[in-house]
Amino acid sequence: MDGATVKELARACGFELCGIAAAVPAPEYGYFQSWVAGGLAGEMRYLTDQRAALRRDARSLLPEARSVICVGKLYDTPWPYSTEFHDAERAWISRYAWGDDYHELLRRGLEDLARRMRARADFTWRVAVDTAPLLERAYARRAGLGWIAKNTCLINEEWGSWLFLGELLVSLELEPDAPPPDRCGSCTRCIDACPTQALVPITEPGGPAWALDARRCISYYTIECRGDAPESLRAGFGNLVFGCDVCQDVCPWNRSRRATEEPGFAPREFAPLLERLGALTETEFAAMFRQSPVRRAKYAGFLRNVALAMGNSRSPRFLPVLERLARHADPAVSATAAWAQRQIQS
Ligand code: SF4
Ligand code: SF4
Repeated sequence: MDGATVKELARACGFELCGIAAAVPAPEYGYFQSWVAGGLAGEMRYLTDQRAALRRDARSLLPEARSVICVGKLYDTPWPYSTEFHDAERAWISRYAWGDDYHELLRRGLEDLARRMRARADFTWRVAVDTAPLLERAYARRAGLGWIAKNTCLINEEWGSWLFLGELLVSLELEPDAPPPDRCGSCTRCIDACPTQALVPITEPGGPAWALDARRCISYYTIECRGDAPESLRAGFGNLVFGCDVCQDVCPWNRSRRATEEPGFAPREFAPLLERLGALTETEFAAMFRQSPVRRAKYAGFLRNVALAMGNSRSPRFLPVLERLARHADPAVSATAAWAQRQIQS
């Protein structure tokens, strides 16, 4: 089977992008190690503990792999960007988490691709989607899907950066694609627009000039981190209660606004009211975000984020909800709610 056939089958399986990289160690692993060693990964244990070494080589996931088929699935929808939306009493949830959880959708698409390929050739395979220990942007770049930009996202010249990535590791030897040039040029829009200055310069010989410092990133604090966000950064969070899209919203490569054809990625509810989110019980939270990536923040983490956004709104209408949250059993929720009360009353 040749690469052109694989790409044709990938398109039939619903992927806008498909390319092929050789299943060899990712040279970018050295940059990843420096990033972790510099403390820039914060407390994301899955990136810093013994699982990190598995990311050196795709063959950690499938020893007989010879090729990594990388796919991209567009998830942008024709709704405003966070930078175009200004209502401090409503919550902003990151675009990628508006609809159904993408993991299952991508997994099903990649399994479908494997089945269609298996009808033509005999090989072993394994699907990887996001949670697998693989430097997926590094392989996607080598597979020609895009360049790794200053905002650390993979950008495709035609489709932009609103892309979910997935991989099919196969024992087939396929002709690899070539990485495209970096087209960020002298642009610094994402760096300038980041509300918490989380995109920082680094000196990595032969490597990227910019890196994400998770310890300053709103996405890290609102999704991954279980404790309190530093008070010095909180104003930058605005009304962001799960993730942050700013460094992609401002990117000129995302101006063309091509919308996904996947109905599952449409917003279940666009910019819900903070007041309603702050009053959710744990059962209601689970029901509202069933099969949604938002569940990753966990109930207490989400309430903490909502309390922080209420504080940033400075709106007295949130004081009754915050009074309840300030008595919450989770210390991050109660402390953030007390901080929010002070913000509003000061
Ligand atoms: S996700 Fe938000 S906080 Fe993080 S680097 Fe991008 S703009 Fe900055
Ligand atoms: S905003 Fe500019 S520098 Fe940032 S990722 Fe986009 S093109 Fe690159």
